[in-house]
Amino acid sequence: MKVAKFGGSSLASGKQLEKVYNIVLSDPERKVIVVSAPGKRYSDDIKVTDLLITIGEKSLAGEVVEQELQAIVDRYAQIAEELNLTSEIIDKIRENLVGLINGDKSNPTLYIEALKAAGEDNNAKLVAAYFNARGQEAHYVNPKEAGLFVTNEPGNAQVLPESYENLYRLRERSGILIVPGFFGYSLDGAVLTFSRSGSDITGSILANGVKAELYENFTDVDAVYSVNPSIVKQPKEIRELTYREMRELSYAGFSVFHDEALIPAFRAGIPVNVKNTNNPSAPGTLIVSKRENKNGPVIGIASDDGFCSIYVSKYMMNREIGFGRKVLQILEDFGLSYEHVPSGIDDMTVVLREKQLNKEIELEVLQRIKNELNADEVIIEHHLALIMVVGEGMRHNVGTTARAAKALAGVDINIDMINQGSSEVSMMFGVKAQDEKRAVQALYNEFFASVLV
Ligand code: ASP
Repeated sequence: MKVAKFGGSSLASGKQLEKVYNIVLSDPERKVIVVSAPGKRYSDDIKVTDLLITIGEKSLAGEVVEQELQAIVDRYAQIAEELNLTSEIIDKIRENLVGLINGDKSNPTLYIEALKAAGEDNNAKLVAAYFNARGQEAHYVNPKEAGLFVTNEPGNAQVLPESYENLYRLRERSGILIVPGFFGYSLDGAVLTFSRSGSDITGSILANGVKAELYENFTDVDAVYSVNPSIVKQPKEIRELTYREMRELSYAGFSVFHDEALIPAFRAGIPVNVKNTNNPSAPGTLIVSKRENKNGPVIGIASDDGFCSIYVSKYMMNREIGFGRKVLQILEDFGLSYEHVPSGIDDMTVVLREKQLNKEIELEVLQRIKNELNADEVIIEHHLALIMVVGEGMRHNVGTTARAAKALAGVDINIDMINQGSSEVSMMFGVKAQDEKRAVQALYNEFFASVLV
């Protein structure tokens, strides 16, 4: 049995739904189908989920939402029309949305959660109706009915372990099961969503629950690329990579597959196949627990900007027990999350996402570190980019860091920071944000130009 998840762009129009139908029907093992809400049809289109969030916010502020409601109903209606479905399904969708808009607002967060989930929920009903209209036995399955229970964390729900046993029972159901992605239910019956793009997470949970042989994640690219295609033209495709490699790459900016979605599949050892709805015969990328290392030490290079670093130095820091903890405690007091902490004998650097800071917080944090810890120097540096060079093969290869550093030196880029060794599968370089793209290109040339994939 396979679980197949289709993303928003795979379900954005009637034509796309036809492709989905053909893909599902071409393999009888594809029994559990997870769907996103209709996504973008073109680059500045608006996702249904974003329209729903606007409706929720406006409606809580007492504003009229008729226009947005109509825009959403029109999106579904257009799809239904393209597929020659009767208007019955669209009436049901409108009714559902109106019910939610007029629903209980006493808990504003839960009110928005229920609306946010409606994009997926109604899409699953629409997809099931389409499969039925084509003569297939297909059933819409609500996550509550399936037993997908989650923690009470709005926008960041986590699956509850008991869900997996409940979901196993889906195996006994007949026909194709169409499940909306992106949300589950708390034990007291409220709708709670996963983090954004969380339909990937639903797919992975279901794959684990039904003990699928494969979790297929259908999107709009042929593969996970070795580097961001908007930085390097036509980069090499990755055929196979490990969960750990995928985790590192998606952390640092690869958005093809949600990093949280790896966990349930990884725990059950289920391979994940990222595939293209628009080119289903392409093999895609397979994410597995172990792979043979054939093509050199590096599998991918990811980068992201928007980081800053706080450099702290104090003579004899190495003798002062608890110094690092105290620095991190100050950050915790401000609710700041950090990403990396490279350190030396008398200095440490804490790397964080700079969007968490504003001028006042920044000043207070620096002053507290300086005053409370008697630091000699506390310096913040803004506008940094982090580049992650990732590959299981790095551990066993001599000279990977030297090659990377040489490649950067070759294009005159100063390395502000290196963190190597804390992760077995990656190496991190901090450079000025303005150098990010050139750095990635240089590293790509070094590690991939001569590699056959
Ligand atoms: N529709 C949701 C979002 O836009 C979830 C998803 O697409 O996976 O975040």
